[in-house]
Amino acid sequence: MRCTALLLVALLAGCAAPPPATKLSVVVSFYPLYAFAKEVGGDRVDVRQLVPPGTSPHDYEPKPSEAAAVRNARVFVYNGAGLEPWVPRLEAELPADAVRVEATRGLPLVEWSSEHGHSEDHGHQERVDPHVWLDPVLAQRMVENVAEGLVQADPQGAAAYREREQGLRRRLQALHTRYAQTLKRCRSRVLITSHAAFGYLARRYGLRLESVAGLTHEAEPSPRRLRELVGLARREGVRAVYAETLAGARVVETLAQELGAPLLVLDPLEGLSESDVQQGKNYFSVMEDNLQQLAAGLGCR
Ligand SMILES: [Zn+2]
Repeated sequence: MRCTALLLVALLAGCAAPPPATKLSVVVSFYPLYAFAKEVGGDRVDVRQLVPPGTSPHDYEPKPSEAAAVRNARVFVYNGAGLEPWVPRLEAELPADAVRVEATRGLPLVEWSSEHGHSEDHGHQERVDPHVWLDPVLAQRMVENVAEGLVQADPQGAAAYREREQGLRRRLQALHTRYAQTLKRCRSRVLITSHAAFGYLARRYGLRLESVAGLTHEAEPSPRRLRELVGLARREGVRAVYAETLAGARVVETLAQELGAPLLVLDPLEGLSESDVQQGKNYFSVMEDNLQQLAAGLGCR
């Protein structure tokens, strides 16, 4: 590691290696991992996201051209926990020495049980709830895993990666504080959503999540499940029902009509749409939007 006078001026915080002439090629599966890898990697990395805008990682199928992109990757980051059933096929294309990062490795993953939703859609891939990135506390552990992968693949950048990792974790912790404060006092704590993406978030902030469909988007609820939800919503004074971007809103619309409740929208951040990208939306802005929607629908003060 060399510190030239010029670098010292630029990097008052300390002596960090200059960015390499060739950037570290990082391939990630879906948007939140793109946001994390780009933030931690800074100008040392070139991050490519496989799941295109507007597509959910649940529904994605890699094209041959995308499989080819993986062949030059030095780091491959995926969520794990069953979110990307297509990953094993792509992994075969990775160079043998590429660093593989399962972002949810070592995290306290939670089984999705039928008491919170219906269970008919449980294939063995989807029994564990993969939606960890929506909890700003657990997201910090994902960031840690991503940073470790970058350090392993590019040890010269370790100081830079660690510093940026700390910065990102501080921002996530501040986001968590805002969530905790905003969701402390609410008229209702029952969160009814279309698919079961908000389990970790609900658990973190003491909300009770009830989903119309299960963990994936395809699942269709039974008439019995709908009747159950209507009864529960009436008993618990539910004032709003949540649809999700990238998930069908039809069933949840029916439920909202039945209850005479407004339909609000949450974004499970499984992918930004083209227009989201154009509007400059990102992980933090979407998480803030979600918090506003939650506060409005649950009647939080
Ligand atoms: Zn999902």
